[in-house]
Amino acid sequence: MTGHAEKAAPFVADDARVHWHDQALWFVRLKRDRQAESIPEWEALRDAAAAIKAHTLSRIADYLEEFERNAKTNGIQVHWTRDGAEHNDIVHRILADRGLTRLVKSKSMLTEECHLNPYLEARGIEVTDTDLGERIVQLRHEPPSHIVLPAIHLKKEDIGDLFHKELGTAEGASDPKYLTEAARSHLRQKFMAAQAGLTGVNFAIAETGGFVVCTNEGNADMGTSLPPVHIACMGFEKIVPRTKDLAIFLRLLARSATGQPVTTYTTHFHGPMRGGELHVVIVDNGRSAILGHETFRRSLSCIRCGACMNTCPVFRRSGGYSYGYTVPGPIGSLLAPLRDSHKFGSLPFASSLCGSCSDVCPVKIDLHHELYAFRQELVREKVVPLYKRFAMAVLSFILARPWAYRVAGSLMRGIMPRLPRVVVYGRWNPWGRQRELPSMPGESFRDLIKKESK
Ligand code: SF4
Repeated sequence: MTGHAEKAAPFVADDARVHWHDQALWFVRLKRDRQAESIPEWEALRDAAAAIKAHTLSRIADYLEEFERNAKTNGIQVHWTRDGAEHNDIVHRILADRGLTRLVKSKSMLTEECHLNPYLEARGIEVTDTDLGERIVQLRHEPPSHIVLPAIHLKKEDIGDLFHKELGTAEGASDPKYLTEAARSHLRQKFMAAQAGLTGVNFAIAETGGFVVCTNEGNADMGTSLPPVHIACMGFEKIVPRTKDLAIFLRLLARSATGQPVTTYTTHFHGPMRGGELHVVIVDNGRSAILGHETFRRSLSCIRCGACMNTCPVFRRSGGYSYGYTVPGPIGSLLAPLRDSHKFGSLPFASSLCGSCSDVCPVKIDLHHELYAFRQELVREKVVPLYKRFAMAVLSFILARPWAYRVAGSLMRGIMPRLPRVVVYGRWNPWGRQRELPSMPGESFRDLIKKESK
């Protein structure tokens, strides 16, 4: 099992960076709060969004077919794919059949999930991510560390060094305006040379066969209005029934994601440009299995706003790479083990269960309760290590019986101070190592227990 704690270790080792990352995300969380509080009907919007999503998931096949019919009428070519491999193959075939080798992409977590970039690059396609944060991590050969703020783990000095190496900016320059201008002219050349543009899909509308893409940089608009071929990739859960549903989701999305009243560019696509082609690739990639899961199907309501990450005390202090999955944070801690409970079995435990994620989620996914339920499932599946299951069984026995609690308490008070240090701090004792209290110099957990027992 891949451990969250082990993966977090390199990030956590840099205390100053952890603090800065924590504060940067908390700043976004506070912006979100101000926007939410400025709308009296905020909770009504959340209720409506949750209800629309629940309804849509309950008859998703019908809505997807309605979308396909209307999209085809609009001249859009619709492709259905079972998994990431089929998705990558379709995208590659669209490009290869037309002899296209230069693709510009706007932000799409789905293509990250399917590992599209390396697939295309291995087949001779030049792929340029055009969202600034995505371009930064692409130049560093890293995945995004956050679904909305892909380079939030980097400071402006890190980006200055990267751009000096890759784009030839002045050495030591870290002024954000200067660096953004440099990225802008670099990307402008890529847009002008592109032969095809790829976007994600924020919302696909069943009743019109159209879809909406939201960006703050206008890069999706550049990438779809210059080259003649546009490919839009969507997980099937992106469907909403009616155009008027957008009035709810678009108000919630930008405010929850970055604390803006509206996303800077909200572009509606209803068909190919004159003389061009528009393809929509609809992807399952494990979503049907989640849809069939009684307890966790609500996770498919996620609109990928990132608010649960910005507020999560574990995410803020452990960084996105500690999750080892395309979508990190509380929602990723559900989606990843739903995909592979053995590989990602530590993630539901990477939560304080404080409930802050559920409080901010615009579609009211009950994240902390679902994480708690997932822990129980992992214990039932025996994915949790034997020592932990044994310890939990003992604890649950003790905590359910007041007499056992009293006996255990006096035993601990009697025994702990007498145990040799090697036992308390031994590598095999996870509690001794990890539950060390912050203490004054020279005052160890053992000393504190001694004091307590006097
Ligand atoms: S689970 Fe909710 S808060 Fe988290 S990214 Fe999805 S919609 Fe946003």
